[in-house]
Amino acid sequence: MIIDCHGHYTTAPKALEEWRNKQIANVANPELGPKISELKISDDELRESIEINQLAKMKERGNDLTIFSPRASFMAHHIGDFKTSTTWAAICNELCFRVSQLFPNNFVGAAMLPQSPGVDPKTCIPELEKCIKEYDFVGINLNPDPSGGHWRAPPLSNEYWYPIYEKMVEYDIPATIHVSTSCNDCFHTTGAHYLNADTTAFMQCLNSDLFKDFPTLKFLIPHGGGAVPYHWGRFRGLAQALKKPLLSEHLLNNIYFDTCVYHQAGIDLLTKVIPVKNILFGSEMIGAVRGIDPETGFYYDDTKRYIENSAHLSETDRKQIYEGNARKLFSRLDQKLKAKGL
Ligand SMILES: [Zn+2]
Repeated sequence: MIIDCHGHYTTAPKALEEWRNKQIANVANPELGPKISELKISDDELRESIEINQLAKMKERGNDLTIFSPRASFMAHHIGDFKTSTTWAAICNELCFRVSQLFPNNFVGAAMLPQSPGVDPKTCIPELEKCIKEYDFVGINLNPDPSGGHWRAPPLSNEYWYPIYEKMVEYDIPATIHVSTSCNDCFHTTGAHYLNADTTAFMQCLNSDLFKDFPTLKFLIPHGGGAVPYHWGRFRGLAQALKKPLLSEHLLNNIYFDTCVYHQAGIDLLTKVIPVKNILFGSEMIGAVRGIDPETGFYYDDTKRYIENSAHLSETDRKQIYEGNARKLFSRLDQKLKAKGL
């Protein structure tokens, strides 16, 4: 079975974006609308938006199941206040839930949280619990920088975030550490801010004893871990200088990486440097990089090809990357699959 741990609903019907634009236009006067009830998207529209996009490509590439969350760049937690984010997150999560109901064998949800800059993260718990209990979601996306490129929140190791971690441990769900749109011109959203955040999140954990406080807390760092695998020697050396244990003990029982790296040499490096037990198959299809690589003739985000062509990986390694590690990390997904006899 091939599980893609990183997919977003980037192809939602236009009505969603139109609703959001109205919400943003009235952000200072939310009483002017729009109302949630004004957003009308039928099951047929949802079905079509998936069938001709993500599902078609999954079939073409031989992927079975995608862990599916709201479009990351649209989370835009920096816009408006907590109420703005609460309404928006509820709408986006519900759409992913409906997709998971329409295609129960191909999609399972992961929640966007209604984060807002400067607002206590514990305010996200009602939405988190709804998504786990009512929608049967298997994970969450946690934005370490709700200010959108200005980094105004404390580091992930700070007790500020602990209310979320307590719930993650209680429900045994991992968080994908995922920022959203950058509103800082210095950082391109997907080309810089995403990768910076992946690297930053790793270093925040390294420079802390977070996993002593939460030994079972699990983070998935997307986009191949940003610069982390490439600079593994630097991080090992920093851990040593900071008198931390070896990274294998200090972080690798809690931190995982996906394979959203869009060229062969990158996947080769990732899978040579990071232990196979810490790598999950992901493609972020359909996402930030949608083109075809003229050097290969295949889509950049067809990451399964690179894993297939990494000569140093064994068949057992590949199986672990495609399925085993995802079932281990997303234990609620494993339970759902087992209940179906898979
Ligand atoms: Zn993503």
